[in-house]
Amino acid sequence: MKLTNYKKQGNIITFTVSGVDVKLLNALRRTIIAGVPSMSVEKVTFYSNTSILNDEVLAHRIGMVPLTTDLKTYTMPAECSCKGKGCAKCTVTLMLDVSGPRTVYSGEMESTDPNVKPVHEKIPLVKLTEKQKLKFEATAQLGLGKDHVKWQSGIAAYEEKEKDTYDFMVESFGQYEPEELLNQALERIGERIKEVKSEVG
Ligand SMILES: [Zn+2]
Repeated sequence: MKLTNYKKQGNIITFTVSGVDVKLLNALRRTIIAGVPSMSVEKVTFYSNTSILNDEVLAHRIGMVPLTTDLKTYTMPAECSCKGKGCAKCTVTLMLDVSGPRTVYSGEMESTDPNVKPVHEKIPLVKLTEKQKLKFEATAQLGLGKDHVKWQSGIAAYEEKEKDTYDFMVESFGQYEPEELLNQALERIGERIKEVKSEVG
């Protein structure tokens, strides 16, 4: 296998790879899209919401806000010692308490962990008019893109240039640097191959 033309531009990495089976590239593409966990809001408790959007619609908008992700500190709730109940090792709380008139932006949510916060500060959540109030506590947790698109942390694609030579592209949505997304996906493929190997014996 040979890797050439490696380039990074912002959140995008491109490279040319030759002498590799296309099935492996497809596994890598699918793992980048659906198999690398990232943080997203899964639960919102509203203490006050007199905005024009009802709780369900607003909770969905909050869930779709990409959050910077720290995979060294957090575990998937199902694999956590709390058995998915939610604790400091698998969840982060983001809080907001504001009154209108104003537009409320993603960056105003205050996170209990500075390493887990909105990637983009200026995503409008809702517009409040005079006397409208919004107060909530949101709980973020790790999840996979295959379960909900809000946990998808990037896209990947490839194109055949000549026989057994492909241009590969990976773009991160900002939860990670693109090289970390690529490395996480490669590690996960490696782990799965090891699992199969140990089953075979
Ligand atoms: Zn936990």
